[in-house]
Amino acid sequence: MFNFKGKTVIITGASRGIGAAAAVLFGRFGANVIVNYKNNADKAAEIVGQITKNGGQGRIFRADVGKQSECRQMVEYAVSEFGRVDILVCNAGIWNEAAIEDMTDTILDEMIDANLKGCFYCAGAAVPHMKKQKSGNIVFISSTAGQRGEAYHSHYAATKGALISLTKSLASELAPSGIMVNCVAPGWVDTDMSHEALVSADGPKYLSLIPLGRAATAEEIAWPILFMSSPYASFITGEILNVNGGAVLVG
Ligand code: NAP
Repeated sequence: MFNFKGKTVIITGASRGIGAAAAVLFGRFGANVIVNYKNNADKAAEIVGQITKNGGQGRIFRADVGKQSECRQMVEYAVSEFGRVDILVCNAGIWNEAAIEDMTDTILDEMIDANLKGCFYCAGAAVPHMKKQKSGNIVFISSTAGQRGEAYHSHYAATKGALISLTKSLASELAPSGIMVNCVAPGWVDTDMSHEALVSADGPKYLSLIPLGRAATAEEIAWPILFMSSPYASFITGEILNVNGGAVLVG
């Protein structure tokens, strides 16, 4: 099984959903976990509680990933607490609806800051430490929307598509430094982000397009994140791992 003992993992958006599930699993396998959150301090603290209960170490850190200075502070905090940064999971994200004609600067900036710039900022802050260590793993969380697009969520889909090219770019840029860069692209996952849509009148339509006939649990996305961060994936870099119940069959 996995062994992340002595490894420091930073997970953005780990107070809820996929990030929280990944934080708990990393903790279960011995990692020191930085549980990043923006608004939900109590939930982040609960996740650290679960990590500690399982014998791991966790710390909460508030940072808006859309702010470069806060991302830098988070990485420095991880280093000050645990001495190193081994794994960065860029998971924080938002999913708002807007028709193209309604997209104001404010709407666009909010989406791009959280979903895309945050990944640049966190990776940019973590990479110097990983380079010094000559090793590291970065996992970006994209979406099926980044590959097939999504009506009324074109700004979301555009950020998620950008993460795929960011993954591929950094994979080749950082491979000589021993840093692996991969991406997990979920389909529908039953979290706070999508629950309302899944139980809406359109819910059955969304589920009918998934060959497995249901949405994933957050943990079903977290396991592939752990795999992509582990030595079992030691020859995989620049890869987009689709975890969508067969909904969008892309390479
Ligand atoms: P979620 O349940 O809504 O949780 C989102 C997390 O991101 C929360 O922990 C939230 O923190 C954090 N967050 C949001 N904006 C942030 C910011 N600016 N700075 C720091 N943290 C921020 O979402 P989820 O379903 O777990 O989604 C996780 C990732 O998977 C996202 O990137 C999402 O796009 C992707 N994804 C989800 C689905 C799905 O169906 N759910 C499908 C494909 C891809 P606070 O609560 O503390 O504010």
